[in-house]
Amino acid sequence: MKKGKLLVISGFSGVGKGTVVNYLKEHRDNYKVSVSVTTRSPRENEIPGIHYHYISNEEFEKMIQEGRLLEYAGYVDHYYGTPKDFVEENLKKGNDVILEIETKGALQVKANMPDAVLIFILPPSAVELKNRLTGRQTETEEVIAERLKKAAEETNNMEKYDYYVLNDEVEKCAEHIEHIKNNNHPESLDMDFVNQIKNEILEFAKGE
Ligand code: 5GP
Repeated sequence: MKKGKLLVISGFSGVGKGTVVNYLKEHRDNYKVSVSVTTRSPRENEIPGIHYHYISNEEFEKMIQEGRLLEYAGYVDHYYGTPKDFVEENLKKGNDVILEIETKGALQVKANMPDAVLIFILPPSAVELKNRLTGRQTETEEVIAERLKKAAEETNNMEKYDYYVLNDEVEKCAEHIEHIKNNNHPESLDMDFVNQIKNEILEFAKGE
């Protein structure tokens, strides 16, 4: 049987990766989305087992020791990781799997599984990203500043991605990812635009 494809989706906090992944999950029946483990607490609208498996530091460290994580990373004071079994089992069954993870983890996946396709989702502009982050209202100002700082750090890993996709409209962004999955002449974004967003984010992260 043909093995499934592993799509690794990253993007700055607030870019709407989750919405795009949910769209794919709801409107296309051929994706299996991995549910990560995390040591952070659930946000108000989040459901254990659906958004994440919420576990303790001890449980997380045990999973690392037992080799049960495909990758993991620290992000703003907490651990996040991808359970290995789910991904391996589904790929073997021929299912395509989506991981929505930050860049350090994505690079670990690529190192272990070179066939993985790394996709970076970009906002229409850095200002828009900042507005989305501020408008979320589930985070304190310190956390928002921390996430912008993280975004700046993540720009360092952006260039190792296979494709850049714009998220100005969820449907269009999801369609673009679908083309990438099907090797259907996927276009990547113009690198001048990618670099422009990168530089704007670096400016924002310095603080105003
Ligand atoms: P949030 O706290 O906003 O849900 O996620 C914070 C960051 O952690 C996001 O960039 C998200 O993509 C990333 N993330 C979520 N799950 C995982 C995971 O399993 N591994 C890694 N490396 N990053 C993850």
